[in-house]
Amino acid sequence: MKSKTNSPNTLQEAILYFSNPENCLEYLVARRWPNGVICPTCGRNDVSFLEKQQKWQCKSRHTQRQFSAKVGTIFEDSPLGLDKWMVAVWMITACKNGVSSYEIHRAIGVTQKTAWFMLQRIRLAMQTGSFLKKMGGDGGHVEADETFIGGKARNMHIAQRKRRITGTGGKDKTAVMGIIERGGEVRAMVADRRRTTLQAAVKNHVEAGSALYTDALLSYAGLEGDYAHQVINHAVKYVDGLIHTNGIENFWSLLKRSLSGTYVSVEPFHLFRYLDEQSFRFNNRKDMNDGDRFSKVISQITDKRVTYKELTGKTSGEEKTPVYN
Ligand SMILES: [Zn+2]
Repeated sequence: MKSKTNSPNTLQEAILYFSNPENCLEYLVARRWPNGVICPTCGRNDVSFLEKQQKWQCKSRHTQRQFSAKVGTIFEDSPLGLDKWMVAVWMITACKNGVSSYEIHRAIGVTQKTAWFMLQRIRLAMQTGSFLKKMGGDGGHVEADETFIGGKARNMHIAQRKRRITGTGGKDKTAVMGIIERGGEVRAMVADRRRTTLQAAVKNHVEAGSALYTDALLSYAGLEGDYAHQVINHAVKYVDGLIHTNGIENFWSLLKRSLSGTYVSVEPFHLFRYLDEQSFRFNNRKDMNDGDRFSKVISQITDKRVTYKELTGKTSGEEKTPVYN
């Protein structure tokens, strides 16, 4: 393969660049296997490239001896070309408020159902890996808060409606918890407002001893044993010096803007994927351009396959149309 260094930086450049299958492959391989191609089955690194098939072959005898660059990635089993995939990844990564499956459907000429499936797989690649490092720590200031994401109950199947109207707090709404380090990253998850849930999340994600700011919700009471916990009572005021939750509130407003604008309605079952997407965008907003963000998503495409059944919650043979967003 010829080496090219002119990586795209705009959507227009991306469409042009990835219309060439050689560019697609080279770009993908450089990020998936930065230290050279290895066999996804056994890990051998002396594989040979089969020019004609655009595949590699492992020297060991095992099943899946020949593999393409798609094997073991979110693109696996997809009949769509990498040119379409790359442009879809670009669109979802670069658009500040996200894109809908309708937009992808129109832009790259696939059905809306296919576009929806593509977007859900791409969101998987936007997931932050395992949260190894806790937030806060030495001198870190962390805010924790929850919000409700509302659903539109009309046009919804009864079973779906039932699934939505669960949990404590908002009827027809899903509770989401977020933790943010000031000047740093955000982590958001589907949760409930129970004390055990919220406190376990704080302990999982925040270094003991950190400065922690929450609102006056009683579920947070008791954390002062492990954290320098300070509470802002929103019934009285919103900011008291350092004591506020404005960082996480800002994230909530970005999240809600994209959910109510682009994404018409999101089932609670799928909500975590949208949280991952918005968190990715938020956590990669500084000192990165669209090309950098795209490159990062492409480097995270491995070992994140998900089947249509897993995506739609259909584990039985029951055929049910998901609410496409
Ligand atoms: Zn092998």
